[in-house]
Amino acid sequence: MAEIQLKSLAHSYSASPSGPDDYAIRQLDHVWHKGGAYALLGPSGCGKSTMLNIISGLVQPSEGEVLFDGKRVNELSPRDRNIAQVFQFPVVYDSMTVYENLAFPLKNNKVPAAKIKTRVQEIAEVLEIEDKLDKKARNLTADEKQKVSMGRGLVREDVSAILFDEPLTVIDPQLKWKLRRKLKQIHEQFDITMVYVTHDQLEASTFADKIAVMYDGQVVQFGTPTELFEAPNHTFVGYFIGSPGMNIVEVEKCQGAVRFGSVEIRLAPWQLDRLVDMKSNNIKIGIRPEFIEIVPAKSDDTYEAEVRDVEDLGTYKIVTVQLGDQTMKVRQDEEFNASIGSQVNLLFPGQWLMLYADEYLVQEQQ
Ligand code: ADP
Ligand code: MG
Repeated sequence: MAEIQLKSLAHSYSASPSGPDDYAIRQLDHVWHKGGAYALLGPSGCGKSTMLNIISGLVQPSEGEVLFDGKRVNELSPRDRNIAQVFQFPVVYDSMTVYENLAFPLKNNKVPAAKIKTRVQEIAEVLEIEDKLDKKARNLTADEKQKVSMGRGLVREDVSAILFDEPLTVIDPQLKWKLRRKLKQIHEQFDITMVYVTHDQLEASTFADKIAVMYDGQVVQFGTPTELFEAPNHTFVGYFIGSPGMNIVEVEKCQGAVRFGSVEIRLAPWQLDRLVDMKSNNIKIGIRPEFIEIVPAKSDDTYEAEVRDVEDLGTYKIVTVQLGDQTMKVRQDEEFNASIGSQVNLLFPGQWLMLYADEYLVQEQQ
């Protein structure tokens, strides 16, 4: 087990990159701490697989360093890095039995035969494939093959870390849920550093204690699911986490507030202070649907909006409102009732009204 540090990392697949767009990983500093259960979450193409392949040594980064427990490993081969990696599609030897497939990484590492036997048995039980051990891998279903593939990653006890690159893509939804729980259980049992790549926020938050959100070749936030929800550090996190995502509106600075169209939004004094010396004109406000309140009485703190749509989702409702020239989503409980076209008073509680400059959260200075 090791702490994995990525230092000033950048990677371009092009031999002569001409600008930031040619980089799959843009300037990235990140630490995966020893023994953690992590998710790496981001949309397709943001650089997740590239990051994993750089850690395991399959890809040499164009710039920067990879450190395991503080030691540079850039020059080490994948084998010497001692990382187990499980890919999206199963990697198994078709002509071998399930047992031989699982035993293979251990044999390679000269583990004594008796130990191999108990360990293969243990992993097969966890993955519920113990009755398939004598079967040739070629005769397995896609699900079973991927379980074997995962087993090959999990079987070694001496690895620095296990990296899972969207391993449950080919698995059916019900089994997916079960396997994810298994992985979490294995993590608790063996205390191995695990990085689990996914583009699915639910998958990320059920597996990981901490999630790194990746966007456009950068880690834009590393935090607990609650932190990502309550204080998105980047507009992308606001938009990507949550369902529906955060309401994000482009605004202009004005005297003592910010404005979109004719609507002036009041901010906290410290937010206004920070805006004064801000050079950027790319300013946005953000508030999650869960945090907007609809209140009966109009006041200095409310904004009048028109109900455009009410979507009943069983245990709650998502109300679409129009405020000035913007539409916003508001989450209400199932008792909420309002007809389309009616006026409502919106309240944006100060603690939940976020300010973004150049897409990053503007924070209160300590
Ligand atoms: P993700 O795993 O998040 O979907 P990838 O790391 O696979 O993202 O890809 C990041 C970017 O690098 C994408 O724009 C992708 O097209 C590009 N890319 C990935 N692998 C290669 C490669 N072998 N050669 C050239 N470009 C690549
Ligand atoms: Mg990928």
